[in-house]
Amino acid sequence: MQRNGHEGHSKHTSRWEYAPSPEPRDVLKLQPRYGLFINGEFVEPHIGRYFTTLNPATEEVLAEVAYADAEDVDRAVRAARRAYETIWSRLPGKERAKYLFRIARILQERSREFAVLESLDNGKPIRESRDVDLPLTIAHFFYYAGWADKLEYAFPGRTPRPLGVAGQIIPWNFPLLMAAWKIAPALATGNTVVLKPAETTPLTALLLCEVFQQADLPPGVVNIITGDGQTGAWLVQHPDVDKIAFTGSTEVGKLIQKAVAGTRKRLTLELGGKAAHVIFEDAAIDQAIEGIVNGIYFNQGHVCCAGSRLLVQESIAELVIRKLKRRIQLLRIGDPLDKNTDIGAINSLQQLRKIERLVEIGIQEGAEIYQSDCALPNRGYWYRPTILTKVSMAHTVAREEIFGPVLSVLTFRTPDEAVQIANNIRYGLSAGVWTNKGSKYLEFAARVKAGVVWCNTYNKFDPASPFGGYKESGFGREGGVHGLAPYVAF
Ligand code: NAP
Ligand code: MG
Repeated sequence: MQRNGHEGHSKHTSRWEYAPSPEPRDVLKLQPRYGLFINGEFVEPHIGRYFTTLNPATEEVLAEVAYADAEDVDRAVRAARRAYETIWSRLPGKERAKYLFRIARILQERSREFAVLESLDNGKPIRESRDVDLPLTIAHFFYYAGWADKLEYAFPGRTPRPLGVAGQIIPWNFPLLMAAWKIAPALATGNTVVLKPAETTPLTALLLCEVFQQADLPPGVVNIITGDGQTGAWLVQHPDVDKIAFTGSTEVGKLIQKAVAGTRKRLTLELGGKAAHVIFEDAAIDQAIEGIVNGIYFNQGHVCCAGSRLLVQESIAELVIRKLKRRIQLLRIGDPLDKNTDIGAINSLQQLRKIERLVEIGIQEGAEIYQSDCALPNRGYWYRPTILTKVSMAHTVAREEIFGPVLSVLTFRTPDEAVQIANNIRYGLSAGVWTNKGSKYLEFAARVKAGVVWCNTYNKFDPASPFGGYKESGFGREGGVHGLAPYVAF
């Protein structure tokens, strides 16, 4: 699909052609087949069923992965319970910390291998997996290692106790990082874990099991079960799970909330988003353009907190849109393992179809589409960086999460109107604001209903900073001292 607007771009926007610079794959030894990681070892699934995971950039099969059914889920939960009761809940915090520090250090040593595998299984550019996913994953383990023996300072005057077995379910957009966000605080607080990665991106979580073995983590403290949504549902329903931590779509989050209603299970949900990214007329425009590009095209827009709704002040709208159009022509799409690549592959055919369908609806509802006209590889799942203009909040593309490299542009006149539009949505995960006036961004940050508000930057993360949503973006916080609370009782 190639329907560019009337504005020409060929004169001033030719891409520099760099020589290919692929990251070697041979740092990695992929096994043809992976079992379930239960009680410290890889085991066969009990009915012997396997499914494949693909490289979305080439459609090649990377490996076969075990399918966990209800009985396998039960096996994993029993292993986690045993490890909780016999070892993990009895270990002093400083001993738990040693394991977490060890995991972090081994990940540092093996980070190149993990980065290559993440790019292969997910489709994200190696520059991101290497410079974002891996450093943040490692930092998360280090950060929570530091808390493990200091919990009484996190909750002054109270004595925090672990909950027991945590069932954790994660999506495909940041597979290893989401595993770290779930596992590190759970272990630091003395819980044991059964984690289910997404069907299309199980491999880095499985490689992480090797790290647990290398670190001598006691068997059963972390169990990884692969499968599909049904596997996740079995984990949620298991009667011996004390806590469910879920990151994924709002739709599935609602199903899970219903499933645990009336049980003793504790629940945190990190769900979808539709962030407002607000550019005031007094912003540093060229920096804001980079922020906008980073906010929506980073990781192919497979980001729950992506700045997918651009709210630009009317007086500068034309200028910003013109600069953005020129900028997206310079983004390189292609081989995720190439260090020059800006935009990798869409994670699955299903996700690609969802993006195409929502953009089609946008056009039918009157939005104007502008896309980069760069060449796309012949195989694999790709979507060009896209800008939709002439959008209002009545449009589906302004309300629904697209989860792809598609920016919907709206305009506003006054700061009040910007806040109104930003909040006129069922989500409340994140927002961004660009202005050179401190008072303006402080007021915006106070009035916008979003868990994270970035000022004059976007998509910046730190393990010490809590992350989580309002409204239908979920509840509970991950990261920071706040991220310990969902895993303790008093
Ligand atoms: P999804 O369909 O909700 O899947 C998320 C996870 O839940 C996957 O492991 C999935 O397994 C599993 N699952 C599916 N159905 C289930 C059920 N009935 N019971 C239990 N588990 C079930 O979400 P997605 O489309 O893969 O991921 C994208 C979504 O995640 C977006 O909406 C995005 O905004 C959100 N997200 C939110 C955050 C955040 O922190 N707020 C972070 C990242 C992503 P299978 O993959 O095997 O089907
Ligand atoms: Mg895959």
